[in-house]
Amino acid sequence: MSALEEARSFLSGYKGRRLRIMEVCGTHTHEIARDGIRNILSPDIELISGPGCPVCVTPAGYIDEAVLLALDKGCTITTFGDLVRVPGSEKSLADARREDARIQVVYSPVDAVSYAREHPDEQVVFLSVGFETTTPSECLAVQEADREGISNFSLLTANKTMPEAYLAMKDSTDAFLYPGHVHAITGMSICEDFRDRYQISGVIAGFTPEELVVAIALCVKGLIKGQPFVINAYPRVVRPEGSPKAVSLIEKYMEPVDAVWRGIGEIKGSGLALREEYAAFDARKKFSLPVIEGRDNPACRCGEVLQGKCSSTECPLFGKVCTPEHPVGACMVSSEGACSAFYLYRRK
Ligand code: SF4
Repeated sequence: MSALEEARSFLSGYKGRRLRIMEVCGTHTHEIARDGIRNILSPDIELISGPGCPVCVTPAGYIDEAVLLALDKGCTITTFGDLVRVPGSEKSLADARREDARIQVVYSPVDAVSYAREHPDEQVVFLSVGFETTTPSECLAVQEADREGISNFSLLTANKTMPEAYLAMKDSTDAFLYPGHVHAITGMSICEDFRDRYQISGVIAGFTPEELVVAIALCVKGLIKGQPFVINAYPRVVRPEGSPKAVSLIEKYMEPVDAVWRGIGEIKGSGLALREEYAAFDARKKFSLPVIEGRDNPACRCGEVLQGKCSSTECPLFGKVCTPEHPVGACMVSSEGACSAFYLYRRK
């Protein structure tokens, strides 16, 4: 019997205490839904989605800031495509584009620097969102702009870090499926520290169906044993020490700040912003942005979905008013959002 077959058989035959396992990462959420992994689990095992989709947790106030930069300050906004349709308090960037704002979709922050180099008459702002996986590339973009003296480039930061989210979510789950790509950067010591200090358990998981099923089985086996645990089930990518080079790049350019997560609120120390030395590349400072609170649509339950308090299908708008073509909330817009995963793969 292969490791996959053994894990499948174990997970479908499990009987016992009902277990909740939170997949924190949006990519995991989509792979689990696409591969129909919930269907092979015993009814006593529940997978719940967490706050690991960077677009979903970007608050309405951040979109409002980007809209203000585009419409009032005349900046060119460069961004990954998903953010364009995320609702702000009143407008999305797609709405701003209909009012002649310049919104350019790019594939990387370094592409945004190239755009700035080629358009010296425009002020180019890159929407810097994401977790430990994408932040190094945003720091590299600042490094490149700084080195070349490209003064018409800046970042609007909403970067976030995972460990504080684990702590905020620890009472919602029995164990975490930790995102493998995040821990390829940060290593395992944070998970081990949380295991020892807070009795938080979890398995670092890869992204193929086999890797996910085996990781979930390891999670269940660890929970049955009853002792807090951390297992690296993605050793082909995650080394215990992570990537010190990427971590020191982040530390050189960014520093921890408190951050607001859409639908969840402020989590202390869970964000990253450019250090004072790089203020020239900080769009908030460069364009003297006011503090914008932002308002979420009260009918949208993204905040509860992102904390594992309700599933996407329990939202009364799901699939009726709110669809990927007409999203009400960020979780339906993003290619990593839980609502879009449940919608796209619901037949599985
Ligand atoms: S289905 Fe739509 S409205 Fe409901 S929680 Fe998800 S994104 Fe929000």
